Amino acid sequence: MKKVHIKSFGCQMNVYDGQRMADILGEQGFEETASPEGADLILLNTCHIRERAVQKVYTELGKLRDIKNAQKAEGQETRIVVAGCVAQAEGAEIQRRQPAVDLVVGPQAYHRLPELLAEAASKRVVDTDLPIEDKFGFLPAPRPQAIRARGVSAFVTVQEGCDKFCAFCVVPYTRGAEFSRPVAQVLAEVERLAESGVRDVTLIGQNVNAYHGEGPDGSVWSLARLMHRVAEVPGIARIRYTTSHPRDMDDGLVAAHRDLPQVMPFLHLPVQAGSDRILAAMNRKHTADEYRRLIDRIRQARPDIALSSDFIVGFPGETDAEFEDTIRLVDEIGFASSYSFKYSPRPGTPAADLRAQVPREIMDERLYRLQERIEHHRQAFNTAMIGREVEVLLERAGRYPGQLAGKSPYLQAVQIESETNRIGEIVRVVIERTSTNSLFGRPLPHQDGARKGMAA
Ligand code: SAM
Ligand code: SF4
Repeated sequence: MKKVHIKSFGCQMNVYDGQRMADILGEQGFEETASPEGADLILLNTCHIRERAVQKVYTELGKLRDIKNAQKAEGQETRIVVAGCVAQAEGAEIQRRQPAVDLVVGPQAYHRLPELLAEAASKRVVDTDLPIEDKFGFLPAPRPQAIRARGVSAFVTVQEGCDKFCAFCVVPYTRGAEFSRPVAQVLAEVERLAESGVRDVTLIGQNVNAYHGEGPDGSVWSLARLMHRVAEVPGIARIRYTTSHPRDMDDGLVAAHRDLPQVMPFLHLPVQAGSDRILAAMNRKHTADEYRRLIDRIRQARPDIALSSDFIVGFPGETDAEFEDTIRLVDEIGFASSYSFKYSPRPGTPAADLRAQVPREIMDERLYRLQERIEHHRQAFNTAMIGREVEVLLERAGRYPGQLAGKSPYLQAVQIESETNRIGEIVRVVIERTSTNSLFGRPLPHQDGARKGMAA
């Protein structure tokens, strides 16, 4: 069999796309390999969200060119493919900067990989079309063996693209307009995953709670309605969804956190900043107080919910006082975890042209302070778990022999000691201690409900 090495950068959607590309290439006789050395095909699935992510791609391509040349000297042909959002944004520029690249394929064109690879045998090829056709309709279903190798937790893309046009963000340009997969297609995929042992699905999309897929009855289904249906799929014990926009958290979705035991009490709901002037300049379409009131409603529906967010520091024109508004919001909400970034100007986005760019040293200081507060709340949340009982979905072997690792309902990594392989089981655990990145728990005596995978 020919070998393909796939490396994905960036968000969960890229992880999902990487798996789907592996499925397509599997049908073409390729098997995946963990290392680029020895591979016949090397595919970089790239991220364009911040400048650093783009630089990483070019650094990586330099190393791959060396591997390609070394393998050529040994008589092995190696082809290099650049996929993902850098491919979409930079197109032929990638091959100009790195001539070793054979094919550039955007995120909405990868279902055509087999034809494009055939074309790329004789010339350099770039395909960055954003076609109207539904790429998902052309993808082969993942094989049971591939599903099992990927584990008991899986991502399912239900929505792609974005129409929000936040002033800092490239996504609407690299992923295109908002698109929702039809309900039947999503359900078929979830059922297939569940049949091969998947217990936990995360429905993903750049703006997943804007989901408005066509239902089997021809009407438009919301994300909440879709989740009610996914909850009925036998074997699916846990449902998560990400990433959501505060403006699209409708009443039905908030109620799903109360009504569906399979919906896990964890929500990633990016707010980006705590100042109304900055939120307006970012074109986020909500204020900090609207976000606070939304969190109150979600907490009423599901009091134990753990929240996380994304933050950008140093958006053009952000003053010290406006940054303090972000710190205040972080301290008020008490997020269980969060991602935070220095603003990175992206070519073609409105914010990149703003004159009042914040100096790098100030961004560094702000990021440091923000991350200190985020970490403080994360540790407080984790420490408060000591002595509590939680249900843990065991996903894989732990770091040391005799250990298994899994996830709490709140998406925390939990390690337990176990003599037997219990991967795929949901076990009741009492948390005994924490380390920087994990909780450590003791499994409680076997309980029927837990074994059958009842949600927390
Ligand atoms: N759709 C999601 C939302 O509305 O929040 C986020 C999508 S984006 C892939 C993930 C995160 O990257 C954003 O929430 C934002 O915090 C960050 N990000 C996006 N563009 C950025 C930029 N130009 N500079 C720094 N961070 C950025
Ligand atoms: Fe980017 Fe999210 Fe804003 Fe869409 S909603 S433009 S993906 S940050």
